[in-house]
Amino acid sequence: MKLLSIIIPAYNEEANIVNIHNRLIAELEELPCHYEIMFVNDGSRDQTLGEILKLAREHDYVKYISLTRNFGKESAILAGLNRVHGDAAILMDSDLQHPPEMICEMVQGFEEGFHQVVAKRSRTGESKMRSVLSSLYYKIVNAVTDVDFVDGEGDFRLLSRKAINSILRLSESNRFSKGLFSWIGLSKKILTYENVVRVDGESKWSFASLVNYGIDGIISFNMKPLRICFYTGFIVLFLSLLYVAITFYHILRDGVGAPGYFTTITAVLMLGGIQLISLGVIGEYVGRIYNESKKRPNFLVDISNADEFDE
Ligand code: UDP
Ligand code: MG
Repeated sequence: MKLLSIIIPAYNEEANIVNIHNRLIAELEELPCHYEIMFVNDGSRDQTLGEILKLAREHDYVKYISLTRNFGKESAILAGLNRVHGDAAILMDSDLQHPPEMICEMVQGFEEGFHQVVAKRSRTGESKMRSVLSSLYYKIVNAVTDVDFVDGEGDFRLLSRKAINSILRLSESNRFSKGLFSWIGLSKKILTYENVVRVDGESKWSFASLVNYGIDGIISFNMKPLRICFYTGFIVLFLSLLYVAITFYHILRDGVGAPGYFTTITAVLMLGGIQLISLGVIGEYVGRIYNESKKRPNFLVDISNADEFDE
């Protein structure tokens, strides 16, 4: 490998920029190749950009892209991938939750010929509740989707040039990178590290955004929810027909009994519920079609010292 790129999305991380830079350098110096560090400022409201610019003035290997507003981590990563020149790139968070000490081992994986080297995290130090919910979520997602999601495998990974180019070819605007990384395939090596607690600042994930992320994971990658609606509808229809036939038989045999308020209301509620669920699922997909059809770019660049990469 000649050049290794490190991509770091940063949103309100002023306290961490210098820190991560120093920690990174300590590791990168050990490597036998050149390196560049690409900071992507994702519309931060604090001094993040200032800190990055200071570093860029001092060091040639520090590159940056500053987006015009907050586009979200997925878009920030995409912006970074778009403008790095390395033979491989490592994606990393700015909060030091992704230990730079792993880089050496990841590069080794690349030299062994792997196109993706994933650093997988254990769940130590995380709240019990979150761990339990996460593993439950992964069980469900893997049951309903067609791609493979692994618990703890996040964005902390090395991508070969081939993997980067494959990712760049996926132009969809609802980006769920975990799914995209799995979708492109290619050979993969998995390393593990101990979970690290965030050094400074706060996590940008609220409970609501985690739930939304979860829904994206399920919807982005398959049409199975549509099919589940279809089957549920089908089964319910079958059961109602059966019920109608049995009731009809009883009426023929015994005559009309007491007015069936309970059964009527149950049927109405049940059907109403199922119809609403189905509409919701269809709505999700329609919404996505609407989003994709706008063909908007995933991010807009305000300033940068790196050119777009062209092969
Ligand atoms: N981030 C970003 N844009 C956002 C939210 C987050 O670029 O809109 C960056 C953030 O600065 C950090 C990384 O994505 O470098 C991971 O964010 P965070 O630590 O909040 O997520 P967590 O580690 O809790 O999953
Ligand atoms: Mg974090």
